[in-house]
Amino acid sequence: MKKDGLITVLILVGLVGGAVLGQILHGAVPDPVETGNSWMSVGKIVLVRPLMLLVLPLVFLSVVVGVTSIGDPSRLGIVGGTTLLYYFSTMVAAVVLGAVLVTTVAPGEGLSPEAITSLQSEGAAQYEENSGLRNAMGTANEKGLGGAWMNILEQVIPKNFFAELANGRTLGVIVFALLLGLALAAIGDAGRPAVDTLRSLFDGVMRLVLWILWLTPIGVFFLVTGTVAKIGLGALAGPLGAYMITVLVGLAIHAFVTLPIVLAVLGRVNPFAFMLRMRKALLTAFGTDSSSATLPVTIETAVDEGGCSKRSANFVLPLGATVNMDGTALYEAVAVVFMFQLWGIDLGMGELVIVVVTATLAAVGAAGIPSAGLVTMVIVVTAVNTSLAGRGIEPLPLEAIGVIIGVDRILDMCRTTVNVWGDAVGARLITRLAPDDEPAAEAA
Ligand code: ASP
Repeated sequence: MKKDGLITVLILVGLVGGAVLGQILHGAVPDPVETGNSWMSVGKIVLVRPLMLLVLPLVFLSVVVGVTSIGDPSRLGIVGGTTLLYYFSTMVAAVVLGAVLVTTVAPGEGLSPEAITSLQSEGAAQYEENSGLRNAMGTANEKGLGGAWMNILEQVIPKNFFAELANGRTLGVIVFALLLGLALAAIGDAGRPAVDTLRSLFDGVMRLVLWILWLTPIGVFFLVTGTVAKIGLGALAGPLGAYMITVLVGLAIHAFVTLPIVLAVLGRVNPFAFMLRMRKALLTAFGTDSSSATLPVTIETAVDEGGCSKRSANFVLPLGATVNMDGTALYEAVAVVFMFQLWGIDLGMGELVIVVVTATLAAVGAAGIPSAGLVTMVIVVTAVNTSLAGRGIEPLPLEAIGVIIGVDRILDMCRTTVNVWGDAVGARLITRLAPDDEPAAEAA
C-alpha cells in the first residue's frame, strides 16, 4: 500500500475507533465532560499543536511564493478577483440554503412547553459555566457590527507584522506576504535570491508537514474519543436532534450538490473523484475541528494528489482557510434562526435578510479554530435584535447561545470539513486560471 493510502486508512481507523470508544466512555464514566476534555487535551498536544506550529510560517511562505510565481500584477488581479468572487458567492449560497432550510423545517418550533423550558434553563446554566466563551461573546457584542467590520479592516491593514504573527492573525500576515510577493516580482532579477530562499524554506516546511501527517491518526483518535465521550451520539435523538440534523442536511447539500455542480460546470473536473483525492485533508479537518490547523495538510494534498497547481494552491488555500467558510456561514444562519424559534420570536423577511448578510460577515470574521463560529454568531444575534427593537419586539437574550454550546463540537467538526472542502474546490477552479508551467502532479 502506498504511504498516502496507509495514512488515510489509519486516520479512518482513528476516527471510527474514537467514535466507538467515545460512545462507550460516554455511558460508562461518572463525568463524561471531564473525561472527554482529558482525551481532547491529549489530541491537541499530539496533533493540533504541531500542525499549528507550521501554519503561520506556511501561510507567509506559500503566499509569497504563490504571488511571485504568478508574477504579473494584472494576472494576479484577475486571479485574486475571481478567488474573492468565488468565496463570496459560495458563502452566500450556503447561508441562503441554511436560512431556507431552517425556516422550512423549523426545528425550534413544535417542541412541548416543558422541553422548551428545560432547554432554555439548561442553556442559561451552560452559558454561565462557559466563562471563556462568555467573555469572548461579550466583547464581540459590545463592539457590535461596526466593530466586526473594524476588526476585519484592521487585519487587512496591519501595522506591525510581528504582532500579527504573535497574535496568530493570519489575515495580516497574508496581506504583508501578498505585498512583499508583488514587490519581489516587480524588482525582477534583484528579487530572485530572496524568492529562491523563500521557496526552499517553503519546501522545507512542506517536508515537515509530511512528517507530522503521521501523527494525524493518533491525534484524530484522541480528539474524536474525547468529543463523543463528552456529547454522546444519542444527542442526535434528543430535543436538539432536529436542529442538529437541519445543520447536517444543509452541510451535506452544500458539500455534495452545490459545490460539486460549481466544480463540474466551471472547473470541468469530476467533483467526486476530486473529493476522494482530497480525503486526507477532509478527514484531518473533521478530526482537528480547525481549518487553520488543517491548512498544511490541505496544501500538501491539493498539490500532490488533487491536481491543483502550486500557483493556485499557494495563494487560494491560505486565504481560504482564513476567510472562506461556507460551512460556518450556513451553520450560523441555521443556529440563529433556531434560537429565535425556540424563544418564540417571529422573524420577518427583513430580519432574514439581515441574518444572510451578517452570517456571511460573521463567517468571514471567524478564525479557523474550534468554536470560532459560535463566538462570531453574536454579531448576527445583535443585528437581528436591533432590527426587532425597531419593531418594539423583545430581543433574544445572549444566553440563548448556551442552548447549543453542548452539542457544538460535533457540528463544528462537520462544518470545518465543509469549510476546507470549499477551499479545495476554489483551488481546483483557480488552477484553470493559474496553471503551473510544469503540469500539475496528477489531474483529477
Ligand atoms: N472550526 C471552524 C473552522 O476552523 C470555524 C467555526 O465554524 O467555528 O473552520
